[in-house]
Amino acid sequence: MKNLFIISIMFVACGLFGQQYELSKDYEAIEDKVITWRRDIHQNPELSNREFKTAEKIAKHLKSLGIETQTGVAHTGVVGILKGDLPGKVVGLRADLDALPVMERNDLPFKSTVTSEFLGEKVGVMHACGHDTHTAILMGVAEVLANNKDKIRGTVKFIFQPAEEGPPPGEEGGALLMVKEGVLKNPDVSAIFGLHINSQTPVGVIRYKAGGTLAAAQSFTIKVKGKQTHGSQPWSGVDPILISAKIIDGLQTIISREANLTNEAAVITVGKIKSGVRFNIIPESAEMIGTIRTLDYGMKDHINKRMMEMVPAIAKAYGGEATISIKDATDITFNDPDLVAAMLPTLERVAGGTNVQTQKAVTGAEDFSYYQREVPGFFFFLGGMTPGNTEAYPHHTPDFLIDDSGLLLGVKALTEMSLDYLNSK
Ligand SMILES: [Zn+2]
Ligand SMILES: [Zn+2]
Repeated sequence: MKNLFIISIMFVACGLFGQQYELSKDYEAIEDKVITWRRDIHQNPELSNREFKTAEKIAKHLKSLGIETQTGVAHTGVVGILKGDLPGKVVGLRADLDALPVMERNDLPFKSTVTSEFLGEKVGVMHACGHDTHTAILMGVAEVLANNKDKIRGTVKFIFQPAEEGPPPGEEGGALLMVKEGVLKNPDVSAIFGLHINSQTPVGVIRYKAGGTLAAAQSFTIKVKGKQTHGSQPWSGVDPILISAKIIDGLQTIISREANLTNEAAVITVGKIKSGVRFNIIPESAEMIGTIRTLDYGMKDHINKRMMEMVPAIAKAYGGEATISIKDATDITFNDPDLVAAMLPTLERVAGGTNVQTQKAVTGAEDFSYYQREVPGFFFFLGGMTPGNTEAYPHHTPDFLIDDSGLLLGVKALTEMSLDYLNSK
């Protein structure tokens, strides 16, 4: 009776704390390798759609693990398919590969001294967003899971994606092209996970948000047509500069008077305005470009619709004409609330409960959103700030720095999320 009682307590405890996979030896063995890969990739960064050497290293690693490997996906992408010993669902894990045109200023033994050409200019190349850590972490996850195929109920698809920061002008690339080339098909991925290292979140901490997490980014172009005249006789013409000012004002009222900002944040920014040549001429035309950031599909549709209505209407009210075109850059990185709820116990188990924290939405953008448009996904942030520090340089800066000691938690999180997800009904 007593024994039965103890057994049933153990059973309840296992149910409460989730499955344990006895991977501590695997994790111990992988940490140094992940750090070595990360440093090598950091020292040899490559720009978007040019990740040739990085892709080669990944493909070589996956093949050495006996993982079915596809190369040249969306230019330089690599996809690995690992079938577990047991049949089941397919989970996708994504890492991005590309670096940025930034000259590194850190004093590191593995500092980048690489230079390249970007838009006709000679630039330094640096992993200034931490994608080197994402690649190394996912290579580590691949090794741990390949060594534990008996624990995998289903298939894990490792998606190493180029050009997250955006392909060079005139080229396709990134998550959108990966999806277009069928990365989520054959075998069909039923959920996808990804992470982003964060330089200003302490090592050991994971932050997440359910729902809209990173914004949809759109760009817009507005062309205003007036009627040129002498600057001293505005009544003889139509002033496109004045119309532009009214349009900017009108656009900001969509945010301040129409968008429900208690729901999610939204931003319209006019980033450039060009018109006129000298002080005493009212010019013929004006052009403005800018960006829209939204975190909710309904708000995105409303803001887009109202911008399309308002811009020509305002111009018309002042006797001119205006057109607006809106272009998608990335979609909303939308974390499926059910998937987040299902995976939270896993994150708490690997990181420790208080180290898993909720966070506010970010108005920056991520092309992981394109996978989430097709299948439920969960994208979270991993701490990369040196323990004890309270300040760190932001991403995309020459002093951006990630502490290696944060990487192992990323390996554990993605490994156990995959196993738990595949083991769930
Ligand atoms: Zn970035
Ligand atoms: Zn990034």
